Amino acid sequence: MKHFYLCVDRISGSGVAIVEGSEPYELSFFFDDGEISSITCNCFCSYHCKHEFAMLLQLRETLRMIEELYDDEFEATNYFAAISKSALLTYATDRKEKGSIVLE
Ligand SMILES: [Zn+2]
Repeated sequence: MKHFYLCVDRISGSGVAIVEGSEPYELSFFFDDGEISSITCNCFCSYHCKHEFAMLLQLRETLRMIEELYDDEFEATNYFAAISKSALLTYATDRKEKGSIVLE
């Protein structure tokens, strides 16, 4: 898997993802009870770009994993952050996210 970072705040209903292709792209979206809307990507494509598609796939996978493994934590905090292992290794020195989940 490519470098990936994802976080969702269920109280404000906002999410942020970083998808790394040839360079990192930052996406933001609204998250309302599992419904994703208003996705924007800073690659400035006028149509739905591949970063949005990658983010949606990753989000779906991550939510499934959270439901299985971290449901209580998500219920309690209404927040999660997930980062891919490769990205964690890359960013570990300068980015410390509390309570992150490392994706395989
Ligand atoms: Zn994009």
